[in-house]
Amino acid sequence: MQKISVIDLHLHSHFSIPSSKQMDIEGIYNFAVRKGVNVLGTGDALFPKWHKEIVNEIEPCGNGLFAYKTINFILTAEVNLVFESRGKDRGIHLVLTFPDFCSVDALSRALNVDFDKSARPTIYLTAYQFVNLAKKINPRINIIPAHIWTPWFGVLGSRHGFDSIEECFEEETLSVTGLETGLSSDPLLSYSVENVRSFTMISSSDAHSPSRIGREATVLKGVEGYDDIFNSIKNADKEKFVFTIEEFPEQGKYFADGHKKCHYSKLGFTNNEFCPICGKKLTIGVWHRIMQLSDAENPSRFIKIPFIHLLPLRDVIAQAFKVGKLAKKVETEYNKGVEAFYNELNILVFTSLNEIRSVFPENIVKAIDALRKERVKKVPGYDGVYGKIILEA
Ligand SMILES: [Zn+2]
Ligand SMILES: [Zn+2]
Repeated sequence: MQKISVIDLHLHSHFSIPSSKQMDIEGIYNFAVRKGVNVLGTGDALFPKWHKEIVNEIEPCGNGLFAYKTINFILTAEVNLVFESRGKDRGIHLVLTFPDFCSVDALSRALNVDFDKSARPTIYLTAYQFVNLAKKINPRINIIPAHIWTPWFGVLGSRHGFDSIEECFEEETLSVTGLETGLSSDPLLSYSVENVRSFTMISSSDAHSPSRIGREATVLKGVEGYDDIFNSIKNADKEKFVFTIEEFPEQGKYFADGHKKCHYSKLGFTNNEFCPICGKKLTIGVWHRIMQLSDAENPSRFIKIPFIHLLPLRDVIAQAFKVGKLAKKVETEYNKGVEAFYNELNILVFTSLNEIRSVFPENIVKAIDALRKERVKKVPGYDGVYGKIILEA
């Protein structure tokens, strides 16, 4: 059997957020192994202190990947591009991947930025200028617009985004390797919009804390090294790119329109963009934004790579027992499962219900079955508030 690579490119080190102390290489490794992710982005590779830490911990494999114990790392960073275009202020997040430390260092030197200031550096260049520069430094640097639909920093988001990928990247549009759907969208929803249909969708967790690693991921098989991974993604190679793991878009923090302070949300396409309680402007959610840009074609026929929706195993167990996620019972069952099947994704995706039944009580088996068949009730998230997915087991 060909080796399966479960890839999560977009995460952040412990330098991104003070509360994420466990996001050092060993911490990321420990959680990733239990989740079932075996290729991880380092995140924050442009941040000097993290750069220093990872140089000492991960070993180059010679094929653009780095080894740490049983898993691989890829050098990645997220940048915040701030520029003006078409009469509007823009703020766009990009995930970058690098084949080696040399290209990380060359890009840092080429940019006039104080990299000590932020683990997600702000760069005052247009998307075209930035990509052009990065590709001149090393054409193997990959450019992946992050969480493309989120209102604040998505390339197609409602606040500072564009109406199409081409408007943003101009003559460098073809340099984009793939687009990250983000937590509030999935490939089906995303392909409602005509101008993204030529791109491959990938998924990653954007994790700031270990428990979030792999909540979304990109699954390939039989890929050998860095270039093989990204060529397979860019070309949507069906032989190698097996599927993506998605959260239910409704669970994302920006799915519906809403105003957090007033606990107000709405899902539906109307032109009223103001909070009926306080009168302030609503934060327009991903669903609304996608419908604005949609050409109303049935998007399912444009899907290039299959995808599945998942919940974390702890959530599934907690729902099965009707207890909170932090309950002792949940931890006990979780550990039992991981001991038997090595990791979470084996349990949720790759193992038959009959095998699972030999380890777990029937209520958990039923909850996993409900998840696989997507028998769920959805309460959409809005304006920074997570949505809820309730299994109907
Ligand atoms: Zn971001
Ligand atoms: Zn309000």
